[in-house]
Amino acid sequence: MSNTFFPTAGEIAHLGVVQTSGSSTIEDAIVMMESNNLSDIIYEVEQGHAIFTVEDLIKYRRHGHSMSAQLKSLKPHLLVYVREDENVLHLLPFFNSKDNRYLGVKNAAGELHGIVSYTDVLASVDPAVMMEHKTLAEVLEKGRVETISGSALTETVLDQLIYPEDAVLIAEQGQLAGIVTTKDIIRMIRDHVDMSQPIRCHMTTPVWTINCNETIKAAIEHLKVRKFKRAIVVDNENKVIGVITQQELISITYGRWAELMKLHAHELGELVQVLETNNNKLRQESLTDALTGVGNRRMINQAIEAEIGRYYRQERSAFSLLLLDIDHFKKINDTHGHPFGDEVLKSLCLTVKKRLRATDTLARWGGEEFAVLLPAASLSAATNLANHIREDIENNKIPAESSVTVSIGTAEYRRGESLEILLQRVDKALYQAKQNGRNTVIPADD
Ligand code: GH3
Ligand code: MG
Ligand code: MG
Repeated sequence: MSNTFFPTAGEIAHLGVVQTSGSSTIEDAIVMMESNNLSDIIYEVEQGHAIFTVEDLIKYRRHGHSMSAQLKSLKPHLLVYVREDENVLHLLPFFNSKDNRYLGVKNAAGELHGIVSYTDVLASVDPAVMMEHKTLAEVLEKGRVETISGSALTETVLDQLIYPEDAVLIAEQGQLAGIVTTKDIIRMIRDHVDMSQPIRCHMTTPVWTINCNETIKAAIEHLKVRKFKRAIVVDNENKVIGVITQQELISITYGRWAELMKLHAHELGELVQVLETNNNKLRQESLTDALTGVGNRRMINQAIEAEIGRYYRQERSAFSLLLLDIDHFKKINDTHGHPFGDEVLKSLCLTVKKRLRATDTLARWGGEEFAVLLPAASLSAATNLANHIREDIENNKIPAESSVTVSIGTAEYRRGESLEILLQRVDKALYQAKQNGRNTVIPADD
């Protein structure tokens, strides 16, 4: 799409990227994030640049990773590069995963010039935001500005004003001296002024002008406040370089947008699709646990809230919840290593899923804890199912060699209770299962 209306990557990039070498440690990165108020740090790796995000930090921390590990020893999220003269519309397809939240912008010399985020790109194609960035100098059609001498007769000047937006600029010795607008006509007729006098006796002075480096938004704002219909635009030497009406200012922004929509309907259609796909993918990712592929806590919380809503609307029979926690998981990790622990989490999900109906929802509640929502299941049905799951896991010996067991708390939703209370009850039942020696299912009784 060739147009100069949307900015380039270089124009919207954040410059002065905080960078560090791959030999910096996670601890160094934390200090840099803290002192620069950033949630991401760029570091150099053999293949280019990689990005270390606050999400990485949380993940490594939770997995008990050493904070003195060097950044280059971690699995890198490589920064994808774009050229600084690339149109922002072409950047959107790159933001298709939550790992790609930034793009690196390279200058003509091939150096990292800055970074651009997804939000920066979206904001730059928003007409309202564009008004805040485009200056009058950029949009003004510069032509000769007609002026009339102050000695011209009032009558002849008034003949030139036909439409409400019309105005005549008066110059004396090459300097802007006054203005006559349709508002002045009203005043002159009311005061019965002598139309044969020179216009300098009746013009409005001084003339309110605006510097060409002001933004479109600032100009529209000023016109609104002063109830003017046009802005007289001057350069830094105060020389008039153009006149622009309120109408023109607004249509420049929105009108050019509409024009662009028409001209590039096809590409914009594709753009909308890319945006939709990106958004759906990001929404999906934000509800999914990356390791196991099952839902995360946010997802099951939404599912439980929806089930509570349905319970009251449809007078459904109660639903139940399981909360499952792996026994002595820390020991499994310590004995076999963290990657082995990860495999246990994955295969546990497969084992649990085999027992579930299509309408049941499994989610990772946190570290080695999982929750299952069972619509239309009583406490005894849920407890029964939980016992099957517990036995499957014990007998499956997943993965082979290790004997993994789980403790499970079960609870049935009670009329009137909130999500929080339900969770508290099932959590207490799980705690009791641990107290009772683990590898047990305990139903919530209170
Ligand atoms: P308990 O029987 O009382 O539940 O003991 P536990 O050792 O299972 O419980 P604890 O809460 O002490 O330890 C949970 C462990 O789970 C510690 C943490 O490192 C590990 N863990 C959390 N998330 C992950 C993960 O994503 N992968 C791996 N491999 N381990 C994880
Ligand atoms: Mg736990
Ligand atoms: Mg545990």
